Amino acid sequence: MKFSQLASYLQKLENTPKRLEITSILADLIEKLSADEIDKGIYLSLGYLAAEFETEKFNIAEKMMVRILAQAYGVTAAEVQKQYSKSGDLGTVAENLAKKNKKFDLSVNDVHEKLLEIAKIAGSGSQEKKTAASAKLLNQADALSAKYIVRITLSLVRLGFTELTVLDALVQTINGAKDKNLKKKLEDRYRIHPDIGLVAKKVKENGLKGLKNVNMEVGVPVHAQKAQRLESVGEVVEKMGEVWVEQKFDGTRVQLHMDRNKKVKASDSTQQEMFVEEIFGKKSTFLIKTFTRNLEETTHQFPDIVEAAGKQIKADSVILDGEAMGYNRETGEFLPFQETIQRKRKHEVAAFAQQIPLKYMVFDILYLNGKSLVDETLLKRKEILNAVIKGGEKGGGLIEIASHVQTSKAEEISKFWAKTLKDGFEGIMIKKVNSPYEAGARSFTWVKMKKTDKQILGDTVDCVILGYYHGRGARAKFGIGGFLVAIWDEKQNMFKTITKVGSGLKDEDWVKLRELADSISTKEKPKNADIAPKFNCDVWTRPKIVVEIAADELSKSTEHSAGYALRFPRLIKFRTDKSPTDTTTPEEIAQLYNAKFGR
Ligand code: AMP
Repeated sequence: MKFSQLASYLQKLENTPKRLEITSILADLIEKLSADEIDKGIYLSLGYLAAEFETEKFNIAEKMMVRILAQAYGVTAAEVQKQYSKSGDLGTVAENLAKKNKKFDLSVNDVHEKLLEIAKIAGSGSQEKKTAASAKLLNQADALSAKYIVRITLSLVRLGFTELTVLDALVQTINGAKDKNLKKKLEDRYRIHPDIGLVAKKVKENGLKGLKNVNMEVGVPVHAQKAQRLESVGEVVEKMGEVWVEQKFDGTRVQLHMDRNKKVKASDSTQQEMFVEEIFGKKSTFLIKTFTRNLEETTHQFPDIVEAAGKQIKADSVILDGEAMGYNRETGEFLPFQETIQRKRKHEVAAFAQQIPLKYMVFDILYLNGKSLVDETLLKRKEILNAVIKGGEKGGGLIEIASHVQTSKAEEISKFWAKTLKDGFEGIMIKKVNSPYEAGARSFTWVKMKKTDKQILGDTVDCVILGYYHGRGARAKFGIGGFLVAIWDEKQNMFKTITKVGSGLKDEDWVKLRELADSISTKEKPKNADIAPKFNCDVWTRPKIVVEIAADELSKSTEHSAGYALRFPRLIKFRTDKSPTDTTTPEEIAQLYNAKFGR
């Protein structure tokens, strides 16, 4: 394809804000591009030169572009500047100045190659060389092509679509596009190897089958899994079942890639080796790289992690996911995020590596010795991780594995959460034990719970049941879906309501509770009970059944007569050993409310 033809597609894309139209223009473009140029065509239409995680950048600022245009079109820089002030877009200025140019024969691949050459010019005199090469290219280009070449060079191409829209367009071009899961199949591959050009090329070459050739690769960052949020431990248990709970570290995400059999390319090695050598007097000759959760390479910031990886990882090749945290050498305490991320610039790295030592807390393994592990369950991946990291959860090394509990019990999660906050962490991460690693997703297989300003209840509360509700949904079949509970206020000789409970019971418990409640049901509301009309039950019972209730929060309430409400309550057990007047007292509830939680 000629570049000028690509430019007219870009123009069409620029002219429509409609997503569906954009997708079909892209699909048309994909059809027209041949297999050996489709990757470059797509990079250019997204405004860059290679996969996102590659580092090819032009480093050409607007001022320099003014000079380039002046040189390309034989006008003064002042003239270019004047036109730029009017239109506000150097692409449009180039389009104007290039009006006389009609024929532009270079292909998409030719222009891509030239642009890549320009981006790669470095060293002394590079500004002049870049200016001359860019001016030469623009001098040949027709008006529309010139406009987009300028915008690409300045990283100003924004045509209202992303890599995911390209995936939609690809789906349209595949025969049998009716397959509903097609987009997901493409996206899954793209997430583990985020090179949209490569995905398009493989599909172009071989249709869906081509996807087999888009695989996880050491050195290519994988889209990081992200966490959802849930409000309460009760919800966690209900939604997630058995979980793995670990500390949430307030550091910076580090995805580590290592392959002992891959030699570092000269072009890759410079920064990484230089730093490792500078600080530790050693060279790493095989590939070790780190990436952020935005796929940016950060290897040069972590020479100490690179060094430890070589020593502590018992494998030929791995991709690990974790969090890097600075810590205080004297106290061993982790430092806040702001202090951890200070090591950004070259000269700072060496200094900070000495001053602020790091821990790399690893929480997942995505790849081992040539094989992707993302489809293994979390439990399996954790088991493998433990075998791969020397020292592991016991700690000691720079690379460590987060400590954890594995449970399906709300109480255990709450306990771990409380301890974690007390130890100074920002919260907990809860992960479903049987879930795969969902690259790029934010789903309920990973949930974060941070420190909350609300009151977290440190103890269970004993209450008495006053009646029940028939309930809706799945539990309606038992004729009971929730019940009202109260505490005994001895001073006022009154039962006072504190919450409605709807969870924490297994099916057989609901059945048992209904039988029990029906055997002591009354027509009237219990007499010595203060119950707001909105809590009226479908079936009242005599205040006899004592239950132990856990909750995540205790808040003040104007609706419940106890003056407080338990939030996210759940039944722990029946307290047949207690009488109805042995419930938790109003004074104890007030104490619980006042007991500040945390450090
Ligand atoms: P947030 O940035 O609040 O959305 O929380 C998600 C982030 O928590 C991740 O991107 C990680 O950088 C970080 N994190 C800290 N500890 C963990 C952990 N144990 N598991 C997963 N992510 C963690």
